Amino acid sequence: MRKWNLIIDCARCHDCNDCFLADKDEFVGNDFPPYSVAQPWSGHRWMNIHRKERGQVPIVQVVYLPQPCMHCEEAPCIKKSPAGTVYKREDGINMIDPVKAKGHPEIVETCPYGAIYWNEEAQVAQKCTGCAHLIDEGWTETRCSQVCPTGAIKLVLADDAEMAKMTAAEGLEAYQAGLGTKPRVLYKNFYRWDKVFVSASVAYKDTDECAEGAKVTVQSGGAKAGEGVANNYGEFVVDKLGLGGRYDVTVEAPGYQAYSTAVTLDKSLNLGLIVLEKA
Ligand code: SF4
Ligand code: SF4
Repeated sequence: MRKWNLIIDCARCHDCNDCFLADKDEFVGNDFPPYSVAQPWSGHRWMNIHRKERGQVPIVQVVYLPQPCMHCEEAPCIKKSPAGTVYKREDGINMIDPVKAKGHPEIVETCPYGAIYWNEEAQVAQKCTGCAHLIDEGWTETRCSQVCPTGAIKLVLADDAEMAKMTAAEGLEAYQAGLGTKPRVLYKNFYRWDKVFVSASVAYKDTDECAEGAKVTVQSGGAKAGEGVANNYGEFVVDKLGLGGRYDVTVEAPGYQAYSTAVTLDKSLNLGLIVLEKA
């Protein structure tokens, strides 16, 4: 059967918060029995956007990771909450029953992603419902996927085999995969969140010009880990490197002495200005 999956592209999100606001528009002040009671005016982030900066001035990238409930297949919230209060629907959406869960604040602590919030007024634990009330009316979008101006959020209603194929083809990854929760929310271009880069600006000493076209090779233990080419500003970025890894970086240009350095990437690193001298 077709199941609910959400794909979020880290390379497309620019932190406009439209998804966050669409969620507020849908759920604040609106009861949707038997799915959910109204979200309070403040304090809840059913779509929570995390932010991270990589690199150092002048080569800096900012990446955003919108995170709703992951609708996990191996969901700690279902396993650890009082029986029947949190359950999985056949289409993969995980729900908190607003009646049965009333008076159980301990449910909030069962989610390792921090995706469950306490509604003090209604005395109930709440989270993203996957827009189940709309899906059941035939919607093929969630409010967040519908509103995203960059197409960063995509609702995919597909069976598990189709989804496995898409996951492999698009290189989709789980956030905090080590938790082993098998989330139904997967991320594209996730390297921008969990990998690091090495970068620099390269110039020629004799001409004082940007070294456009200089070739960069990054090796780890003698094997190639990445490569790049300096752009017209002389800048390069070699991405998708492992956090904490030790790498040898070599910059080469015809007619100039090669530059080499060893780095340990505890974070994305801008090496600053590399000046190539005539051979
Ligand atoms: S609406 Fe789209 S681009 Fe805007 S914050 Fe949400 S995911 Fe990012
Ligand atoms: S993200 Fe948290 S609340 Fe959502 S299904 Fe997984 S464990 Fe449950």
